Amino acid sequence: MTEYDVVIVGGGMVGATLALMLAQRPGLRIAIVEAAAAPRADGGFQPSFDGRSTALSRSTAQAFVQLGLWSEIRRYSNPIGHIEVSEQGRWGRVRLDAAEEGVEALGFVMENAWLGRLLYGACAADAAIDWLSECRVQSIDTAAGMQRVQAQDAQGELLLQARLLVAADGAHSSLRAAMQVASDTFDYTQCAVVCNVESSEAHADRAYERFCHGEVLALLPRVDASRALIWTASPARARELERAQEGEFLRQLGQRLGPAWGRWRARTAPVVYPLQRIIARQQVQAGRVLLGNAAHFLHPVAGQGFNLCVRDAAALARTVHAQLERGADPGEVASLRLYEQGRQRDQAMITTFSDRLVRLFGVDHVLLSHLRSLGMSLFDLTPGSKTLLARLSMGAL
Ligand SMILES: Cc1cc2nc3c(=O)[nH]c(=O)nc-3n(C[C@H](O)[C@H](O)[C@H](O)COP(=O)(O)OP(=O)(O)OC[C@H]3O[C@@H](n4cnc5c(N)ncnc54)[C@H](O)[C@@H]3O)c2cc1C
Repeated sequence: MTEYDVVIVGGGMVGATLALMLAQRPGLRIAIVEAAAAPRADGGFQPSFDGRSTALSRSTAQAFVQLGLWSEIRRYSNPIGHIEVSEQGRWGRVRLDAAEEGVEALGFVMENAWLGRLLYGACAADAAIDWLSECRVQSIDTAAGMQRVQAQDAQGELLLQARLLVAADGAHSSLRAAMQVASDTFDYTQCAVVCNVESSEAHADRAYERFCHGEVLALLPRVDASRALIWTASPARARELERAQEGEFLRQLGQRLGPAWGRWRARTAPVVYPLQRIIARQQVQAGRVLLGNAAHFLHPVAGQGFNLCVRDAAALARTVHAQLERGADPGEVASLRLYEQGRQRDQAMITTFSDRLVRLFGVDHVLLSHLRSLGMSLFDLTPGSKTLLARLSMGAL
């Protein structure tokens, strides 16, 4: 039985970020148990660190500054100088501009696989963190106030124990089930089709979100001059797009975006992600915390899921550090409940914002369409509301 202060199950984007935050306090011993192989320096994907790109908000950038990782992340990320939200065939649009908001960028776009390699490299280099890869947790239990984890790797069975167990094992968390925490699931009956594309017009640091009759196309500027495309559509349409010949896929893309973009080229093949909202009814128990997608899995339309998780992870790390500072148990349920309560407002705001955006633009109705056009134009003309949206997008509220 190997003993740690904290065992994190799931070395995805959130579990790895939390480990680095916890390790900021000297003397802590942390284990990450991750089912997938460690990210390789020469490429390759694992479930969390795949070909998707994530728009990192300014609050996330700030968190990585504190971890000493920002200069490296900045090298592999592209700033978002402008955001434009529009609807096909309607005149209203919302434009956000970094210079108008008085900031360097509204966010930064980075490929998950790159971020994963960086986070893994930083964890592997930190003596406080043991990263157990290709190791799957089979069961958990509690004995004498300690959280015990039984896991399996190629060599056989491993037993770990810690005063705090963090389940960061994704949207369909088996630990959430083992903790007997119920969750509320809503199926959007939508999928995201994700790939990288390039147009003959340079991206000029512009991000776009375009609503087209129940489908949403988001384009994020990437550091290699291509754009990350996230095309949200019904499951049947998504599979059709995934199977379409490259030329047909690009034709449909061009048709939805209009001629101003020039010629499109595909850089990667499309991958489909089913979209649901899964919210755990409880995020903490004595000695246990649900974090990341295991706690709340959101629609990616607002690009806020990971950014929200980073703010959760920072708050959890502060709670653990404060407990240890006063010689108390990091798994003490009262302190974990305070953490959970402290995160409620931010989580509720981002969940509602993401959900409303999906519903508002998902309904294809002529009157509603006009109202949306009007709303977007008013939004564009009203500096206060734009600043509010910009602050929300930047994770600065
Ligand atoms: C299409 C799309 C686009 C997105 N874009 C954005 C964006 O622009 N901005 C943003 O902020 N967010 C975005 N998100 C959300 C973001 O991707 C998630 O918030 C983030 O991936 C959550 O990471 P996680 O580590 O909690 O979970 P995951 O990424 O699911 O990682 C869970 C990890 O746990 C491991 N695991 C599972 N079970 C076990 C077990 N039993 N034992 C050991 N290990 C286990 C898995 O192998 C995996 O590595 C997007 C999401 C999608 C789907």
